[in-house]
Amino acid sequence: MKILVINSGSSSIKFQVIDRDTEKMLASGLIERVGLADGRMKYRCGDTKVVVDKAIPDHETGLDLLLQTIVDPEIGALSSLDEIGACGHRVVHGGEKFTSSVLIDDEVLKGLEEVSGLAPLHNPANIMGIRAAIKKLPGIPNVAVFDTAFHQTMPQVNYMYALPYKLYEEYGMRRYGFHGTSHQFVAQRTAEILERPLEELNIITCHLGNGCSVTAVKGGKSIDTSLGYGTFCGLVMGTRSGDVDPAILLDLMENKGWSIEQVKKMVYKESGLLGLSEISMDMRDIENSMFAGNERAKLTFEIFADRVKKYIGSYAATLGRLDAVVFTAGIGENGWELRELICDNMDVLGIELDREANKVKGVEKIVSTPESRVAVLVVPTNEELMIARETARLAV
Ligand code: ADP
Repeated sequence: MKILVINSGSSSIKFQVIDRDTEKMLASGLIERVGLADGRMKYRCGDTKVVVDKAIPDHETGLDLLLQTIVDPEIGALSSLDEIGACGHRVVHGGEKFTSSVLIDDEVLKGLEEVSGLAPLHNPANIMGIRAAIKKLPGIPNVAVFDTAFHQTMPQVNYMYALPYKLYEEYGMRRYGFHGTSHQFVAQRTAEILERPLEELNIITCHLGNGCSVTAVKGGKSIDTSLGYGTFCGLVMGTRSGDVDPAILLDLMENKGWSIEQVKKMVYKESGLLGLSEISMDMRDIENSMFAGNERAKLTFEIFADRVKKYIGSYAATLGRLDAVVFTAGIGENGWELRELICDNMDVLGIELDREANKVKGVEKIVSTPESRVAVLVVPTNEELMIARETARLAV
């Protein structure tokens, strides 16, 4: 049986077809510029890669195109849509309402609409994808898998901000956290690699991609995470600032004539690696400039590493005992120089990196020395596979 995994954004649809039994990805694709005249679909099935340029006015048309493509006699992965047993959807925000993945029905759809205000840029787009799938694949179960759900186990001590309590009660203003699917996947995989029960392990998972977050995972449950109510706090990211003193934002608006829109654009789109370096939002460009002697790139690289190091330190204190630190996502999996800098001088926590073993990109590996009290691992993330597993668990 095959699972169709859909990640529907406001102007894009990412998808994968995954075989439930072998857990192999059979086909994948990205539909971009939905709603615009010059839409595009990039599709891959085995060694076959195609690009289709076509107007895609809405998500339903996008879904039509992807369904036609995956059963195309020439380039398709399936002989018929009947092979699809269920559809798994990434949903960014589940609020406090959704603490784990759910099978979608009318009641759930209503619930999703209710929490949409917490992620106005993402959830409505996710819901559009779900509605399109319900319409185009009638009778096939749909499952919602949330970025926030894994973090719903955080104790209140860790999810509350020290703001007036009524902001939490009236508006749900608290830490939610994101990238939960990825943190959960790599934590589970770490237990398998270390051949120890997940329930016994204290793990810090570092998801370092365009978006970045660190999570403290105790016995398989998230107890703290660096992203919060919105999606720009915590670590330095591609274009997002990470933690800043809110006084700076207030000062810009109060005394420097900045509008709310300008401040918002700055912290989400013009900060992070891009804003600091004035070179690029992409870590590879920062590294290349740094190796070529660019001082600002070096500073940017060092600030990025410093923030990860500080979160690891603080979460080690929260966890009490630390068994493993795991690096994942584009930067975490590939940036070995960065891992080296983050783990440098961490004897205080019992982290001892094997510098030679660490010189790897994109492979699953233990990169600490055999003597290291804390295991350090590189574990490539696979959010789509995690969504497919959750979908199969609930829908089949
Ligand atoms: P997204 O959050 O969009 O899924 P990814 O997980 O793909 O992002 O991560 C993108 C980041 O990974 C970019 O900053 C990119 O530069 C970085 N990255 C990819 N390959 C490497 C590499 N070889 N070395 C360092 N960073 C890398």
